[in-house]
Amino acid sequence: MSNDQGPDSLNRRRFMVTAIGASAALAASSAPPGTQAATVSRGTAFTGDTIDGKKIVSALDVNDLEPGKKHLFYFQGVEMPTGQHWYVSVTVVKGAKPGKRGVLTSGVHGDEMSSVHTVQTVMSQLDLAQMSGTVMAVTDVSRPALESMQRRWPNQGRGIDLIDMNREWPGNENGATTPSRHAGLLFNRLLRPNADFAIDFHTGTTGFEVTAFNVGGMDVPEVKAMLELYPVGQIFDNHVYPGVLHNAFMDVGIPSFTPEVGAGRVLDHEMISLFVEGTMNVLRHHGIVAGPMGRTGKDVTVFVGNSAYPILATAGGLVEHLVKLNDKVSAGQKVAIQRNSFGEVVAEYASGVAGEITGQRSDAMSEPGNPLVFILFNKPGPEDVPIYPE
Ligand SMILES: [Zn+2]
Repeated sequence: MSNDQGPDSLNRRRFMVTAIGASAALAASSAPPGTQAATVSRGTAFTGDTIDGKKIVSALDVNDLEPGKKHLFYFQGVEMPTGQHWYVSVTVVKGAKPGKRGVLTSGVHGDEMSSVHTVQTVMSQLDLAQMSGTVMAVTDVSRPALESMQRRWPNQGRGIDLIDMNREWPGNENGATTPSRHAGLLFNRLLRPNADFAIDFHTGTTGFEVTAFNVGGMDVPEVKAMLELYPVGQIFDNHVYPGVLHNAFMDVGIPSFTPEVGAGRVLDHEMISLFVEGTMNVLRHHGIVAGPMGRTGKDVTVFVGNSAYPILATAGGLVEHLVKLNDKVSAGQKVAIQRNSFGEVVAEYASGVAGEITGQRSDAMSEPGNPLVFILFNKPGPEDVPIYPE
């Protein structure tokens, strides 16, 4: 291996040095349980370049930034086949007084526009002079997915592949795909080192809309406290699966959860305002923002479920929903019918549980296997880990 010849040997060596550096950093960052440090800072590193007047960083520590000021950067993400990088936008609002550090992210999926606008609205409401602490926002995490407003990242490694970036966290700076490397760079050098708590905003996806709800583990007191500060009608109390961004934060001791702000592709201003209000409450809860709480979960009726019951299409055809989002349904209740091209009913779909409708396919045509409905409900016994299209 040490006698590699040809032009690749230098790059190979550089790659290996990088790899060793990364594993050393990983080793250094693993603390014994209970003493797990939320902050693993590499300091702030400027590349020396700017884009549209905004400085580019390849690592960021908000402690290095001037207080009482709003800072705008581009973070240098993964290198592409052209040798150029994907940059993500970073907004840091650092209050005049010291305090906790919150991280708000959106755009892990590229078709979830209400999540982006929720974060932008929260950032615009922060008052630098009154704030104690720092809020950092990254609204365009999965840049290439956002460019085409689609859920997944188009990866070119082995021919075109579409990769769901919310199955990649915490990523790997030397991973096999660009989304994995991008996730690793962002998580290690931008997100994790600046978070005492983190909120990763999502929505439903193209063709499948959801209610306003939050996903998180209510058995974790720090998470429960935040989830209850949102005036939204549903909580999905479930740890879901590894690979989602909020679980990568949780795994390193940073309380985190995922709000779901309605349908994909559109701006739902009514739902956005609920999540802005809840997020401002969370910032008050952490002492970053002063003043009285807005409406919380106590001011609305909140249905908490620990599982999502999926109804998958068994036929092709046009789907007609018989219930609406947030409707309560009983076990055995018919919730959708499907017709073929002649208008003949080819399938009828009933709920297997009593619960509340939390998601519905909004694209009227469906093939067998597509999720049509998700019903939030309470499963006795061990919690389910459903594949939820967050
Ligand atoms: Zn999403």
